[in-house]
Amino acid sequence: MGTATAKKMDPVLAELVSIVGAENATNAKHIRYAYSYDLSFVEPKLPDYVVMVHNVEQIQGVLRFANREKIPVVPYTAGTNIGGLCIPERGGILMDLKRMNKIIEIDPESLVAVIEPGVSHAQLAAALYEHNLRFGWPVGPPSASVASCAISHGIGGMNARYGLQSQEITSMEVVLPTGELVRVGSCAINPDAWHSVLPLPQMDGLFKGWLGTTGVVTKLGINVHHIPPVLKIFTVSCDTVEDMYSYMLNLSNYEICDDLTAVSWWLSQVPIPYPYKPMPAGASEWFSYATTYSFTEKEREARVEIWEKVVAEEKAKGTSIQVTHYPEEALAARTKLPSQIVGSTKNYCKQGGAGISWPGTFTPAKKWAPVYNDWKKILIEHNLSPSVRMSMYRGVHYGMLRAMIPFNKQSKQETENARHAIVECLKVDLAHGGMPYKPPVDFAREINGRAHPGYLSLLKQIKALLDPNDIMNPGKLGI
Ligand SMILES: Cc1cc2nc3c(=O)[nH]c(=O)nc-3n(C[C@H](O)[C@H](O)[C@H](O)COP(=O)(O)OP(=O)(O)OC[C@H]3O[C@@H](n4cnc5c(N)ncnc54)[C@H](O)[C@@H]3O)c2cc1C
Repeated sequence: MGTATAKKMDPVLAELVSIVGAENATNAKHIRYAYSYDLSFVEPKLPDYVVMVHNVEQIQGVLRFANREKIPVVPYTAGTNIGGLCIPERGGILMDLKRMNKIIEIDPESLVAVIEPGVSHAQLAAALYEHNLRFGWPVGPPSASVASCAISHGIGGMNARYGLQSQEITSMEVVLPTGELVRVGSCAINPDAWHSVLPLPQMDGLFKGWLGTTGVVTKLGINVHHIPPVLKIFTVSCDTVEDMYSYMLNLSNYEICDDLTAVSWWLSQVPIPYPYKPMPAGASEWFSYATTYSFTEKEREARVEIWEKVVAEEKAKGTSIQVTHYPEEALAARTKLPSQIVGSTKNYCKQGGAGISWPGTFTPAKKWAPVYNDWKKILIEHNLSPSVRMSMYRGVHYGMLRAMIPFNKQSKQETENARHAIVECLKVDLAHGGMPYKPPVDFAREINGRAHPGYLSLLKQIKALLDPNDIMNPGKLGI
């Protein structure tokens, strides 16, 4: 990274250079610019400094200094979240962690991997495949960090079976905003044991879902899983969201799927149409794919038997369900993960002028249909595609409901239009008991405005305890 000469050097930059070296600290505008925006509707804002850290000691050094001087610090790995979560609300130091990308350990017997924060999904997938192991890869950019996704309650291809990425976390090492190094989970008791956060008090919760506002995670233990040899994907289509919900509810009861997902016609298109265009006459509005893995052919046959029974029951109810062929490219994009197709963001938004944002929520499954019907109205009124996904979660009737909304980020007016529509969608979802994940500040305000006062008070107390000078990603929690 470029730096000014020692004589003219800004004192903050000089201190950062002394911690991470001249190559790894800068206040050059062209580099700061690259960290000032993301794909979302969130207004770009420049950090004042960018540092590229290589080890725990450097992170501690930067945080001790920033805490003393009350300078904001924003942790960053790939910046592919689509909620402006790394856009510095109050300037300060952007801490890029992508060079900390060691896979510290893969233990195929204990089914645990230990990784640094910069390890990407593509990198971990390649290393795990050598052991015939997997993680729940998201339908997102392969360059994104596994740790960032996990601590942000990300969702991946095994959520129907194992839950959120954050539920796969087994241990953590974290630098607190004061520079203190802490561990939670089994690695806190034995430095080589990374297998479990339980039965200790579950302190990993202090760093999950906090959007980088309570500390910098420096090592993460996660559970990994065998890849059974027989993959069978069941695909159906329905004309209405109500019929698709009925099928998913029924199939979910049998707990045979790693992933049980449905996408609206607009989300099955590569790229998603922008602006909104109507579906072709005769097309089904909903497509579902359900991935199941079996160890033997007999096990696969048992899964097929269950699925056929569910389809027959849905047909007997008179729903519009049809066993269909899911568009090949779209199916590969969502099942051959980490995804080279959907993960290549241009396929999401190349028609849209490089903008993409979402109302990403977890919502009781029985509310999916009413929420979708309202979202569809709101989005079409704003000339946006109702490109919506619904995914079942861990065998219970709750799950992910989100829309991926491309828009033209080159136009202020079109960006504002998307922001308005998405926030309106979020309000509908909150009214039905849904909760957004990885929320942009606009969402945080909506959440906090509805929150129990005791929840908000506790949130503030924990934040103040861990980050007394409010230096970590300040402003993101909307409190
Ligand atoms: C087309 C597309 C599809 C997507 N699909 C999915 C999907 O299927 N599932 C899904 O979950 N996501 C999805 N995403 C969102 C995104 O890819 C994930 O959230 C991703 O894991 C974020 O990783 P990142 O490295 O880009 O994190 P960043 O954006 O760099 O950071 C995310 C957050 O984590 C904080 N953070 C980063 N590192 C640390 C650390 N070490 N300690 C503390 N805080 C830290 C940051 O401050 C920020 O708040 C998608 C995105 C796109 C563009």
